[in-house]
Amino acid sequence: MPACCSAGHSGGSRAGAGMHAHRHSSGCSHMLTMFKVVSTSDGARRGELATASGTLPTPALLVYTHRGGVLNLTPDLLEKLPDAQAVQIDGLQFVNQPKPEVLQQAPGGGRRFLALDAPPRVLVATARDPAIYEYLGAMRQATKEWASVSIHTGAATVTAEQYVEAVAALQPDLWVALSDDIPNDSRSDRCPKSVDRTVAWLPACMAAAAGAPALAGAGALAAVQGGQYVNERIRCAEAAAKQPGLAGVVVAALGTGESPELRATIIAEVTARFPEGALRMVSSVGTPEDVLEAVAQGIDLFDSAHLVNLVAGGYALSFPVTPEEEAAQQAAAAGPPPAAGAAGETAAAAGAAADGGAAQEQCAADRGEDDSKINLWSLAYRTDARPLLPGCSCFACANHTRAYLHHLLQTHEMTAQVLLELHNTHHYLRFFAAIRDGIAAGRFGEYRAWFLGRRQRWLVEGR
Ligand SMILES: [Zn+2]
Repeated sequence: MPACCSAGHSGGSRAGAGMHAHRHSSGCSHMLTMFKVVSTSDGARRGELATASGTLPTPALLVYTHRGGVLNLTPDLLEKLPDAQAVQIDGLQFVNQPKPEVLQQAPGGGRRFLALDAPPRVLVATARDPAIYEYLGAMRQATKEWASVSIHTGAATVTAEQYVEAVAALQPDLWVALSDDIPNDSRSDRCPKSVDRTVAWLPACMAAAAGAPALAGAGALAAVQGGQYVNERIRCAEAAAKQPGLAGVVVAALGTGESPELRATIIAEVTARFPEGALRMVSSVGTPEDVLEAVAQGIDLFDSAHLVNLVAGGYALSFPVTPEEEAAQQAAAAGPPPAAGAAGETAAAAGAAADGGAAQEQCAADRGEDDSKINLWSLAYRTDARPLLPGCSCFACANHTRAYLHHLLQTHEMTAQVLLELHNTHHYLRFFAAIRDGIAAGRFGEYRAWFLGRRQRWLVEGR
């Protein structure tokens, strides 16, 4: 970290209610300080991101949008997830159709056009759809001037300036700079080219953003590429860290086949090149175990690629979010169910094992479940009158049964995906809240050990 950043700066406050951000004087590797670390625990950090759309507690989960629409959820259903305070959107999808001017000229601008304006949520524009890795392998080309991307109209080329224009039309609170996004297993000669282009496009994006009034209050994140080559990741990170005015960094193109060990190395090497106050995001890192490992490395923002895959597969999350919930599960499995209303949300995860009796004699696969989720396609749920997760307070669990979800899947009714999306997002937001609570209490390491230990017992001992 440059000495100038450790000394603290007192640059002029930017306009905008509630904004704590300020810009450092030019000429050093300074960060835009809209983010602050509130507490740390065992490598993890509990932070706050101050934006014009509100203050987001981190580590945070970004709700996924597919080309601008929250997947499976209408705006009124999204309002049933009050903890969904941040949304991710792929800026590339707005380069061509609709063109940026369509959003700019719409009443209220891009946010209103996409029905993402009320209630206010932190909007994060990325240069990639985290759930659909639209990379065509060797077919994908790029030059120094443009990236070739797949969008809903087909293949397209996009320059840094075109990308930033599209992003500005979305009126985001955070946006990720354009990068030459390539997967982990890209060839050794392709990765340096990707880094060269990514390094060149960052200042081009920042210059374009400086001329876009809609991005005046937004924070920019540099994307770090380099595939599996750690030296290239480092080269990209070191170059990006010199860029003035960034709010943070995205360790990009993860979730593309890298091993957990390599991912940890890449995250460590990249984040070490940025100041502590830099906001840190990863792309497409999503299972609970992967989230915990990344949080332990100080990552602050996550997308919802994992949830997209779960809903597509007909899964409902059922893992206990806290040790107390695990205890409630075990108590429910061992004896009569707790008195109605006794424990509310705390007893939520009790449901997966709550019926006891005959179900206990079946193996987990017969029951259509593992230690973290249930598969509603399973015939085991054909007549199951329980909610997806007894005790869960989400709309789906409060109103519907597993048998109904199974029926909806069998009949290919889209309400199945709607209800699964609601439940899984609600559950994962609770998981992130528990992570934040663990950090705030100074016990993140303990929480992580409990969670991973439970997972290990399942894998090794089958319980
Ligand atoms: Zn639920």
